[in-house]
Amino acid sequence: METLDTDVTIIGAGPVGLCLARALSGAGLDITVVERQAESSLSTPPFDGREIGLTHRSRAHLQRLGLWQRLAPEDVSLLRDMQVFNGDSLRSMDVSHRGSGRDRLGYLVANQAIRSAAFAAVREADDIRILDSVRVIAVDSTVDRARVRLEDGRELVSKLLVAADSRFSETRRAFGIGTRMFDVGRSMLVCRVTHDIPHDDVAWEWFGVGQTLARLPLGSAQPLGHRSSLVLTLPAREMGEIQALDADRFAREMERRSGGRMGGIHSVSERHVYPLVTTYPQRFSGHRFALIGDAAVGMHPVTAHGFNFGLMSVQALAREILQAAAAGTDIAAPGRLARYEREHRRATLPLYLATRGIVGLYTDDRRPARMVRQALLRVGDGLAPFKRLLVASLTSEGIGPARVPAHPASRGRA
Ligand SMILES: Cc1cc2nc3c(=O)[nH]c(=O)nc-3n(C[C@H](O)[C@H](O)[C@H](O)COP(=O)(O)OP(=O)(O)OC[C@H]3O[C@@H](n4cnc5c(N)ncnc54)[C@H](O)[C@@H]3O)c2cc1C
Repeated sequence: METLDTDVTIIGAGPVGLCLARALSGAGLDITVVERQAESSLSTPPFDGREIGLTHRSRAHLQRLGLWQRLAPEDVSLLRDMQVFNGDSLRSMDVSHRGSGRDRLGYLVANQAIRSAAFAAVREADDIRILDSVRVIAVDSTVDRARVRLEDGRELVSKLLVAADSRFSETRRAFGIGTRMFDVGRSMLVCRVTHDIPHDDVAWEWFGVGQTLARLPLGSAQPLGHRSSLVLTLPAREMGEIQALDADRFAREMERRSGGRMGGIHSVSERHVYPLVTTYPQRFSGHRFALIGDAAVGMHPVTAHGFNFGLMSVQALAREILQAAAAGTDIAAPGRLARYEREHRRATLPLYLATRGIVGLYTDDRRPARMVRQALLRVGDGLAPFKRLLVASLTSEGIGPARVPAHPASRGRA
């Protein structure tokens, strides 16, 4: 059996695992990333329908990691403001950039573009090894070392093991960490469309009866109209019928479901469906072990924070590891992992809980819930605390303890 000694093992080469590898590169550490997908789908990831709403803090972080510079201008769309509608009412709760000191709430970038930029940045680092097309079959840790066994018989021994293996993390489960899971009982369909009515870089979310529909503005108008991402949330049993429609029928169905808010819909990309399950584990760390990304906090996409929180976990954990490496001390010292855990919990729990509450209220089609949300919207600022939390989270630069120095590879670039 081949045994590989490495300083940090990261399970999962999703966007967050790759960003952590990149953040740790250049500090004299040997980093190994294990991924079950093949290298070809990491270097050229297929379109998966996700348009990731990025905060200003995330944009700055991606820049420091040398990823933002790899995105083509057409990959980045502007998210100026958001509107939330309830039922048949045309009155909206406006989440505006105004007053935030910014000219926009944030940015929209396809997950596919983020993943390929992250992989390109990692591939050029010679202290990062990627073991692709291989599954982890067992994990274990003691006070001295963490061990990972791979299905091809190889074993990895490291000072620190980091799980970035999705919200359904098998590693988290193997370490016996319980997780509060909330199955929203809905599926989310995402795709790109072109349509007649301009979006003016404003996103909207419409909590109708029996469905939630969102439109995310995408840049560069096409010959066939303006481009947006459509996000339709329905009970899973209804989603099957929608998925079975051909592109033309689907477009007509979306015109009907959007109540004409987008005008005619002309072309539709491939469609992707995701089950909606949110997760929040009891712990983010253990002996020589930490959770990051969705493995740590699995958000509901409605507040656009999953990857943004993932990047915050990268910042907070990388800071602890890099400080320890610079001081020549243990990179997985219990005090450091505990500090990471405290910081990440503090940064994520309020919005996680607020989002859960809002989702619960807005996906409940019973009459009392419909009346409560209408009242909240009518009182103008009934949702003010949630709005403030969301706007602050989207627009703040995150100047605080989680800041990391510029990555060597990003210095000197725009
Ligand atoms: C429809 C939708 C819209 C979203 N919109 C937003 C948004 O607007 N803003 C935002 O911030 N976030 C958004 N998100 C969330 C965002 O996509 C996730 O937070 C992000 O992808 C998490 O990245 P990750 O690397 O932690 O996990 P993942 O992307 O899940 O990657 C996990 C990786 O681990 C690998 N893996 C798993 N198990 C193993 C194993 N045993 N061995 C080896 N490899 C393994 C997987 O193959 C995968 O590559 C959205 C999500 C969805 C579904």
